[in-house]
Amino acid sequence: MIAAKTMAKTHATLGHGNVHLPGAHGSNQERLHRPVLVLNSSYEPINVCAARRALVLVLKGVAATEEHAASHVHSARQAMTVPSVIRLLEYRRIPLQARSLSRKNILMRDRYTCQYCLKTFSANELTLDHVMPRSRKGETTWENLVACCHLCNNRKGSRTPEEANMRLARAPRPFSLHTSRHLMRLLGKSDDQWRKYLFY
Ligand SMILES: [Zn+2]
Repeated sequence: MIAAKTMAKTHATLGHGNVHLPGAHGSNQERLHRPVLVLNSSYEPINVCAARRALVLVLKGVAATEEHAASHVHSARQAMTVPSVIRLLEYRRIPLQARSLSRKNILMRDRYTCQYCLKTFSANELTLDHVMPRSRKGETTWENLVACCHLCNNRKGSRTPEEANMRLARAPRPFSLHTSRHLMRLLGKSDDQWRKYLFY
């Protein structure tokens, strides 16, 4: 659920305001963390957020529930159905390269796969490699950073891939909507209700 958490940040501008949600305790806890697919008003999938955030958006009238999950969350006064898919009521322009350069986003872009040996690792087994080493004026940019396992990182040292005779899986690019959609699909595999919005 790392991906869902990070992606939810793209809508950080929509504050929580004064909406009262059922407390995050007991059985509510897990349900409020479920990933919810966020559609633009045009039905284009644009994001994944936690159910808690989706409920806030619905309660504030920013979004409407398109699909319900099978579960409820309970507060003292009421039970609320947890959404599975919500749609923003107003169209939001999504800048193509709005994602911030962060370790987590680089690892997500590279799908937790070392870009040299092509093995998949957990986040703490990966480091970021400057393709053109920093010691040689390599920049800290989307195009010069890749996910890399410690073994490959040591082997490469402060050499270029060519000098180290190591091949990159692919040229690193900024995080794109295509990458996000891939991640949404991965998350959506567990949720049949997402499919009609993602597989078109
Ligand atoms: Zn490796």
